[in-house]
Amino acid sequence: MAGSIRKDFCGRPIPVVVVQGFLGTSGTWLWGSFERYLNFHAQSPRRTIFVDVGPVSSLHDRACELYYALVGGTVDYGAEHSKAHNHARYGRHIPQGQYPEWSSTWPLHFVAHSIGGPTCRPEDDFFPLMPLLTVSAPFRGTQLVYLLGERADAAPAVRPLSVGSVLGKWVHIISYISPLLPQVVDFHADCRSLTYRDISFFSLLKQLWKSDWAESRDATPFDVTFQAADERESDGEGVIEPETFYQSHVAVMTRQYSKSSRMQMPTLNHITSPMMYICARLMGKFDYSILRPSPSFHQLDDCVFTTGSETSMGEEYWANDGVVPIFSQWHPLPCRRDHCRHLETTGQPDEDRLETPRPGIWYVNQEDDAHHMSLVPLWTNTDRQKQWWKRLGRWLSTVEENR
Ligand SMILES: [Zn+2]
Ligand SMILES: [Zn+2]
Repeated sequence: MAGSIRKDFCGRPIPVVVVQGFLGTSGTWLWGSFERYLNFHAQSPRRTIFVDVGPVSSLHDRACELYYALVGGTVDYGAEHSKAHNHARYGRHIPQGQYPEWSSTWPLHFVAHSIGGPTCRPEDDFFPLMPLLTVSAPFRGTQLVYLLGERADAAPAVRPLSVGSVLGKWVHIISYISPLLPQVVDFHADCRSLTYRDISFFSLLKQLWKSDWAESRDATPFDVTFQAADERESDGEGVIEPETFYQSHVAVMTRQYSKSSRMQMPTLNHITSPMMYICARLMGKFDYSILRPSPSFHQLDDCVFTTGSETSMGEEYWANDGVVPIFSQWHPLPCRRDHCRHLETTGQPDEDRLETPRPGIWYVNQEDDAHHMSLVPLWTNTDRQKQWWKRLGRWLSTVEENR
């Protein structure tokens, strides 16, 4: 389609848009000096665009915010969606987008961490053709959301006194007093009228008792349930766009409990990241049979699928990076021969990992011994991170040459 486009409209390399994950925050203060390595092999530096989207918002709301952050204008969540989810149709006005030229003529590269992955939807008409690289993205849901408080039998309801419940209350309190706070935490809640200027103290108390947002189908927690992922896939989301280049990076910090079990436990060296370690341990032995509705991947076969007898499922449902199981990090939809290619990258020399990328296929790269934050966003100046960004820079150049 756009065979000659290798530069942006000013003749510079096509910029990279960085899309953040749950509770993610923009900026190089967290992402560190990655640009030095991203541009290591480049003749002229590539621009990086950090976009701010709702850190706890639903995928739909985040996708709308991402679009308008780039092109500018008043965020429009859509008439049908806003009516169905009981919030205003329009959000904040963005006078100057970060890349108003974005179109199929002037495409952008996207690098997305965690929930930033499914936020980018190349199959949507308003997302012009783009290469997409995801890291630890929960395309098909994660059991962590149930461990943190989502009701396994009645999502999006949240268990009282759970981590998820406390987090929801914190979001409401911060949003209520946000006009008095510096813009450090921005929940992009403009369409929801949650500040003290919009609602009474009594209304705040009602939200703290039962949140219309956190316990709705229009927030990140529900969107990362297996139920929501199944619904998205049934609605046709995640289908491959034949002209889009895809690459996923799959972090894994666990190994099998024993030869006879497919359940997993984190390797001991990750005990220095105690939160990740605890979450990985709980996720590694998660009992999928408690979920209602049953996720599509276990086919409602309760006879085969009972606790301790997980023989019908592979270890990819328990292997995880402390936040997302690896089957979910691979790509949307189940594996298919013409739809994905799984590469084992860890330990290979830099040069061996390169091959001419083809559009319309997910290249899945496994990063062993890595947790949810090992590659991005937290810059720790490791060799792994430096090499990863260098490879990314070269992949983007190769994609441009092969468009
Ligand atoms: Zn919404
Ligand atoms: Zn696959």
